[in-house]
Amino acid sequence: MKLETKTPLRIASGGLAVGLVAGLSLMAGSPWVSSSSAEEAAGSAPTFSPVKALSDRDVYFPGTEDLASDEMRVTACGTGMPNARPKQAAACWLVELGNGDKFIFDIGSGSFERLSALSIPMDYLDKVFIGHLHSDHFGDLGDLWVGGVISNRQRPLRIWGPSGSKPEYGTQYAVDRMQEMLTWDAASRLGNVNVQGQKLEVTEFDYQGVNQVIYEDNGVTIRSIPAIHALDGPVSFILEWNGLKFAFSSDTYPNKWWLEHTKDADIAIHECFLPPTLLVKRQKFPVADALNVGTQVHTSPAMFGKVMSIIEPRMAVAYHFFNDFDIAPEVERLIRMTYDGPLELAVDYMVFNVTKDDIKVRMAVINEDAWPLPSVTEKLPADPSERIGFSEFITSGREVFADVIKRAYDETNEEFGTDIPPPL
Ligand SMILES: [Zn+2]
Ligand SMILES: [Zn+2]
Repeated sequence: MKLETKTPLRIASGGLAVGLVAGLSLMAGSPWVSSSSAEEAAGSAPTFSPVKALSDRDVYFPGTEDLASDEMRVTACGTGMPNARPKQAAACWLVELGNGDKFIFDIGSGSFERLSALSIPMDYLDKVFIGHLHSDHFGDLGDLWVGGVISNRQRPLRIWGPSGSKPEYGTQYAVDRMQEMLTWDAASRLGNVNVQGQKLEVTEFDYQGVNQVIYEDNGVTIRSIPAIHALDGPVSFILEWNGLKFAFSSDTYPNKWWLEHTKDADIAIHECFLPPTLLVKRQKFPVADALNVGTQVHTSPAMFGKVMSIIEPRMAVAYHFFNDFDIAPEVERLIRMTYDGPLELAVDYMVFNVTKDDIKVRMAVINEDAWPLPSVTEKLPADPSERIGFSEFITSGREVFADVIKRAYDETNEEFGTDIPPPL
């Protein structure tokens, strides 16, 4: 194919930052420069544009790409901090494997919205691994649980999380109380939607276990190692499948267990907190608190770099800071003082396609108008006999617009060929 065409090179729109080199590589897979148009370009400008889709994409559109049988796709569904912000939800990472398995690691506040944007039926989002019980790491668990009930998840929601130094600090205690907190929610669903998905299964494992297997199925092994963060209890996770190794710190101070057991990870995602100076300047921390939180409770950027220099992953991913144009350069400068290997500073919707030969990093482009995908199993009907109903006091307050309700029933019955009478 000739590249020295006089026809202006047209690149598909979509805001792609395409430099000269990237542009040339895009041309190779681009229908905009088909062999026929290149031939025509030698003579006169082509009359018709090709009608095929681009074969190369620099972005990931959820639900539009096969996952190869040997491939791992890791999607950032929360990369921020405990402080809520529209741009970055709190910690959450989705791991999808070519064998069909999907695993959620942490589900911090705001992250369920990100997960929901990925066009995955809720049936498959039923396994959650929680590194520790800060709300920025499990705050959306209740929403995932209830969202699954509404979306016909027929299997229990399965949760793995650490014990604590006493039972009240453990995952079982937290999930039991979450269920209690949602008592009214659960009761209100009875008889109105099928409640098969209200089942929860918690596997609480020893937070002091070192490289202990906490999950093993379908060729996937997940291990936990202790983490050091705020209080006894936190852990980090290592997932291995098909010769690929994924490591996720959740939150931790640098520690010997991570350095020993995450060596040579294909992708190592580790917290990297804002440096103390920025905690003071941007978040108004008292200086002593900034130093404590930024270097003792969390891992600072330069400490992150030290950690990655030792474990030497194929890809190091820093998360857990507000990744803005005026923050990232300082975070990267500090990391680069101690680490010169492959690095990404995560933002929400960053996607990593990992195989033995390649790690492709792109951004997902989300359809803001996405609806929940229908369940892959037939939607189970509600059982009206389970309905708790209202007190006489509340029932006495109902204004029944019988004419419009009857019309809604009539129109719906007609459209779907049913014969459901309106309630009296
Ligand atoms: Zn934390
Ligand atoms: Zn955190």
